[in-house]
Amino acid sequence: MKLYNTLTKKAEEFIPHEAGKVSMYTCGPTVYHFAHIGNLRSYIMEDVLEKYLRYEGNEVFRVMNITDVGHLSSDGDTGEDKMLKGAKREHKTVMEIAKFYTDAFFEDCKKLNIKVPEVVEPATSCIPEFIEMVETLLKKGYAYEAGGNVYFDTSKLENYYVFNNHNAEDLEVGVREGVEADDNKKNKTDFVLWFTKSKFDDQELKWDSPWGIGYPGWHIECSAISIKHNGEYLDLHCGGIDNAFPHHTNEIAQSEAYLGHPWCRHWFHVLHLNTNSGKMSKSKGEFLTVSLLEEKGYDPLVYRFFCLQSHYRKSLVFSWEGLDNAKIAYDKLVAKIAALKNEGEVDSAVFEEYKAKFMAAVGSDLNTSNGITEIYNVFKAKTNGATKLALLADYEKVMSLGLLEAAEKLNAKAEAEAAEKAAAEEGVVKDEFTLKIEELIAKRLDAKKSRDFATADAIRAELSEMGVDIIDTPQGTKYTVR
Ligand code: AMP
Ligand code: ZN
Repeated sequence: MKLYNTLTKKAEEFIPHEAGKVSMYTCGPTVYHFAHIGNLRSYIMEDVLEKYLRYEGNEVFRVMNITDVGHLSSDGDTGEDKMLKGAKREHKTVMEIAKFYTDAFFEDCKKLNIKVPEVVEPATSCIPEFIEMVETLLKKGYAYEAGGNVYFDTSKLENYYVFNNHNAEDLEVGVREGVEADDNKKNKTDFVLWFTKSKFDDQELKWDSPWGIGYPGWHIECSAISIKHNGEYLDLHCGGIDNAFPHHTNEIAQSEAYLGHPWCRHWFHVLHLNTNSGKMSKSKGEFLTVSLLEEKGYDPLVYRFFCLQSHYRKSLVFSWEGLDNAKIAYDKLVAKIAALKNEGEVDSAVFEEYKAKFMAAVGSDLNTSNGITEIYNVFKAKTNGATKLALLADYEKVMSLGLLEAAEKLNAKAEAEAAEKAAAEEGVVKDEFTLKIEELIAKRLDAKKSRDFATADAIRAELSEMGVDIIDTPQGTKYTVR
């Protein structure tokens, strides 16, 4: 497939180191709060990418970390540990909130049809790996100790800014408003590998290390976890665009300094989901979650559809109106699928022709919106229902919009309603019939009581004509319908 690479700044053929095998790494969530639908836009697009690579016939081995320590309020290593902030907010321990929000994240993923990666590794379970990496960086002269912390020395690299030629303003990333600059750093862009001197004495999670008791920096997590599971050469690294600098830039710096050779070939970044007032972010406090969408009556897969309607390299503005339009389009599409009859044999020539069109669309820098157009094109194909349904099921291996399941549900609902209606109608007919029989039997009993046997016999004949046979028993008159 052709895929834009942030490193080379162009869409290029995606070629893994080993043909047919893709090693993939995704920066996982910082589990101090619920994932917002902006975070989930990134995970949805990464999921489509992974599934498309599989669809093309690759084996994909995907690794994701869970950031449960070391990610500070500012990506430039200052401020409070986000996990501690979350724990304080909820009067719980860091590990309690990590567990709670990790579970919540995977529940959201499930609702959005996002596949769980092959490896999910919390940062707190890889402390020895981080320490080994920091030790090696110190030995190789890429790191230094200052003020109790260990820092990566970015001046040791020929090209630190791998993604962009950052300007002076970009360098201010570590020194945001209200956050103090770190005087221990030799260079503004140096970053912490290991903290021992935390401004916060109540830092909950700490481990022993050659530099004293402390905790790892955020960036080292992703390098070490990726190398641990995917080895020295990584094919594809993903994340939201805010991760490109400084997080991914720092990952590249330390991974390549540690390994002594280039590390990851291809960098995939998803542009942000914005609101009218800017980027949706957890730290702003106001953000939308999957549960909130559900509370408002939206199927989470409508949000997936909303995301797939636009290209991952364009920022996407969220609005309720936009989501409503996606819902209307999604429901219409489901109804169209529900109306298809699974008739005939799959026509393999048509199937292959349309599959190639779908691959050309999505394989062109993950153009999911053209992929959706290809879904619509299936309905226009001059072929039978079986072929159309087979194509839609095939595209769903990549898009995972739950379209066929929703169509099945719609048909099952329609069938159940029709059956209910028929039963109700039948019930009315039966009741009238039963009432008539009961009325005639009662009349016959009266006739018999008044010894009017002629009338009684006439009623028996009338019932017989209606297909009803009667028999007098000590318990009263019984009847059977022929
Ligand atoms: P975090 O939980 O903050 O570590 O972020 C998890 C992922 O979501 C990272 O890949 C971020 O780059 C990404 N992300 C954060 N905010 C947004 C947003 N508004 N839109 C899309 N992706 C985002
Ligand atoms: Zn990361």
